[in-house]
Amino acid sequence: MKNYTLPWHDVIWSKLTKDVNKLPHAILFSGQTGVGKKRLAERFAIFLLCESPVENEACGICKSCKLIAAGNHPDYIFITPEEKKKIISVDQTREVSRQLQLKSHIAGKKVAIIYPAESMNVNAANSLLKILEEPPLDNIIILVTSKISHLPMTIKSRCIKISVNLPNHDLAASWLQMQESNVDIDNAASLLKCAGGAPLLAQSLLAKDFSQTRMQLLDDVSGIARQQSDFSACAKRWKETGADLCLMWFQGFMADLIKITMANTAKTSNNLPGLTNIELSSDLKLPKKTLNLRQLFEFSDVLSESRKLLNAPMDELLLLEDILVRWQGLMKA
Ligand SMILES: [Zn+2]
Repeated sequence: MKNYTLPWHDVIWSKLTKDVNKLPHAILFSGQTGVGKKRLAERFAIFLLCESPVENEACGICKSCKLIAAGNHPDYIFITPEEKKKIISVDQTREVSRQLQLKSHIAGKKVAIIYPAESMNVNAANSLLKILEEPPLDNIIILVTSKISHLPMTIKSRCIKISVNLPNHDLAASWLQMQESNVDIDNAASLLKCAGGAPLLAQSLLAKDFSQTRMQLLDDVSGIARQQSDFSACAKRWKETGADLCLMWFQGFMADLIKITMANTAKTSNNLPGLTNIELSSDLKLPKKTLNLRQLFEFSDVLSESRKLLNAPMDELLLLEDILVRWQGLMKA
């Protein structure tokens, strides 16, 4: 059976599995992307459906565990946007409702996971709300979200909310090194920085060979700042790479820039610990000008607001272009 265990989930796990007879009908896992919420939800669903758990873990060998591993457990429902779509549709949540009304086949209960919950459109959320208002007996619905503010209050208020937090840096770095034999301590630290501290995201950046992407992103922001690159070509590249990932990296870049600017102001530029983009300590790759800290902070806010907008149905290309235009303006002014 696949290993779903992550060491920073230990405390939540012991709380979740303490008394399964007193579980609420709906649980909402929230937390940053890459913290392992989906894995936790899957591990919990498998545990709940297992016929003979051993020491608060699914046994891995009963009929139920085997059916889940094979991907066809009749009491396990996993809802996610269909391929190449961004939203969970009302048809999908109606299907959850239909399946939850049916009698359980094996485990005596049914478990549904909705991932990511913020992808439900308004109609889908309304139809899910009906289930949450009158939950069929012995069913548990697990919602998973990294954007809890995007969920309707009516849904949130009917769930027990559990936030899955980031591990501390040492635990995250040692976990990452254990998973990836080719990652040394500096490498792990840099990947975790690019991933905002989230270990699973750091791991996926490594798998995607993010170091090359990062060099491209550095080239892009410096090209735009020097008015040598084309906005729309750059925005298109960022969209293909993943708008959220690029903007998250851009936030890290801005944090670097703020640190460098502060160090320059204080004339302590020899000592710059913890840059995400270490190259910047020797060469800023930007037009020579005195940077205004307040403007840098304001632009960082624009980036974080823009990331929040990404999930709404909107034109990502336009959003990215707008950010790059603003970035050029900031460097030009
Ligand atoms: Zn089992």
